[in-house]
Amino acid sequence: MTTDTLRSIAQLQSAGLVPAGRAAALERVAARYAVAVTPAMADLIDRDDPNDPIARQFLPEPAELEAHPPERADPIGDDAFSPVEGIVHRYADRVLLKLVHTCPVYCRFCFRREMVGPRGRGGLTGEKRAAAYRYIRQHPQIWEVILTGGDPLVLPAARLRAAVCTLAAIGHVRIVRIHTRVPAVAPERVTAELLAALRAPGKTTYVALHANHPRELTAAARAACARIVDAGIPMLSQSVLLRGVNDDIETLTALMRAFVECRVKPYYLHHADLAPGTGHLRTTIEAGQQLMRQLRGQVSGLCQPAYMLDIPDGAGKVPIGPSYLSPAGTVGDDGRREVRAIDGRLHDYPPRR
Ligand code: SF4
Repeated sequence: MTTDTLRSIAQLQSAGLVPAGRAAALERVAARYAVAVTPAMADLIDRDDPNDPIARQFLPEPAELEAHPPERADPIGDDAFSPVEGIVHRYADRVLLKLVHTCPVYCRFCFRREMVGPRGRGGLTGEKRAAAYRYIRQHPQIWEVILTGGDPLVLPAARLRAAVCTLAAIGHVRIVRIHTRVPAVAPERVTAELLAALRAPGKTTYVALHANHPRELTAAARAACARIVDAGIPMLSQSVLLRGVNDDIETLTALMRAFVECRVKPYYLHHADLAPGTGHLRTTIEAGQQLMRQLRGQVSGLCQPAYMLDIPDGAGKVPIGPSYLSPAGTVGDDGRREVRAIDGRLHDYPPRR
């Protein structure tokens, strides 16, 4: 059993996760992008499976040093929407607030891989944090604050409580949403103290769990989710569609069902962003749409996330289908529409009389 988070190639090698022959190549990757694998995830990796989907998410690969032309350091264009450090204000009624740039694990596909980690941008401290809160106070249209990063649940409970209470005290902020991987990758961090810190007095907290493979929802992870939901905090899911991890219907079905069984409502399935050196983990939009069609055809409506693309360079997030309306949208001049049923057949839908 692994007891500590593995943060170097030497530690991964000692844990039997990296063969000696690959160490030198992987040292070069680790020098460029942060590495961390928590005990919960290290113990989940099947050492005998060269294509293990958990390993694919967390163990570095030489391919990460091969950046392709469309890839970019800020793939979703956060920086252009950052009026003060730590805030991203792209959509009128909500902001991202990045208090930390560290994570319990470092995902090899991370869209913020150039910013997170010990060599990343650093946490939001002192005057910078005060400026971020001031910005939120000064913009009454901000209804929701999304704590992200980094992973805000790496913060000590007292600091998290201070952040949540500060936000809750701002009259127009009604929702505090926390994006995290912690309940799955470090479930032991979900303590009574942390749960108390998550509650926003007089306001509503949501926790959005990022997990990509059903095996991540271990018994300990399920228990951590139960503690959160039992504390009165609703949960949502976020997943990234990843080649060789969850880009098959059996895995995606099991993942979405596992979320629902944990009382975590499937929310977004993200098409992987154009982060540098992540091409080997991306699939095509067509493959993603085909998976969404299969999911819609076979699995309960409770298990349906929206398939989302963050348009590169900051144009925002949009659902990318598939659409069940015929491509032309209308048929003839009478406003009649064609709709494709789950079995693929087209049907007329009459115009409004
Ligand atoms: S936990 Fe989130 S922010 Fe951190 S490396 Fe993974 S995807 Fe990136």
